[in-house]
Amino acid sequence: MKVKFWGVRGSIASPGPATVRYGGNTTCIEIRTDLNELIIIDAGTGIFPLSQSLLSELPVTANVLISHSHWDHIQGLPFFIPNFIPGNTLRLHGAFDPVSGKGVEQVMSVQLQYSYFPVREAEMKAQIEYVTLMPEQSIQLGSATVTPFLMNHPVVDFGYRIEANGKSVFFTGDHEPPLNIYETHEPDYAEYQSFIDEKTASVLHAMSGVDVLIADCSYTTAEYGSKKGWGHGTFDSSINYAKQAGAKLLYCTHHEPTRSDDALEAVFAKVLEDHPRKAGDPEYRLAREGESYEF
Ligand SMILES: [Zn+2]
Ligand SMILES: [Zn+2]
Repeated sequence: MKVKFWGVRGSIASPGPATVRYGGNTTCIEIRTDLNELIIIDAGTGIFPLSQSLLSELPVTANVLISHSHWDHIQGLPFFIPNFIPGNTLRLHGAFDPVSGKGVEQVMSVQLQYSYFPVREAEMKAQIEYVTLMPEQSIQLGSATVTPFLMNHPVVDFGYRIEANGKSVFFTGDHEPPLNIYETHEPDYAEYQSFIDEKTASVLHAMSGVDVLIADCSYTTAEYGSKKGWGHGTFDSSINYAKQAGAKLLYCTHHEPTRSDDALEAVFAKVLEDHPRKAGDPEYRLAREGESYEF
């Protein structure tokens, strides 16, 4: 299996000299099974350069898994070049949105409104299909088994576990470890805590023993204090997940858009210092646009 990062930035694309090493594109990850089957996770702006790289292997069937409908995870979709070329298939997978009452087709139709994009879906030349997924119901994409898990974010957000040929990867999407909203002395604390413990156990089960865990590490623990409830994790929370789940390698992603490459490396150096690796601990890396990892 191979994982390649095409977009590692959170919230908004952040190109420029200060982010050129880790990249400014928003979330997009290319997965290849050992049979070279293509799975794409999220369609942030990174899907545009990925789609350019696919022009050498047309026609393609692109199975795209959408974690959630926030812009930074979908905004590259109208610019996926194979959409405009006959013979290609784009198969979009994602959650049902209880707020709008619509399935994953909405992440395309909203963006293709004529006020925002000049080409209508009917004019696109590729075959475009929509598959609305249910939590914890696996689907088969070629040799890969894909299972969506509900994560914790202000909108419905799927983390995805992908398994093929004995290898596995889990992507959290945007995820904030659930927090108890009550103080320990309040009467509802215990009941809420048991709900959180259940949720944590289900997230750890979803990640359990993966070769590669790709996790939302938007903030440092110090920054997190003023950003509770925004739906994002920290380096520390993701390292704890990786350790407890027995992941082999953690890629930290969804880099904060105002963080320069130098600042990101400084923050990460401190994180590594705070989490010295013992035997059996996962390896920790920063996700970087253009980096691929084969396992
Ligand atoms: Zn995001
Ligand atoms: Zn989000």
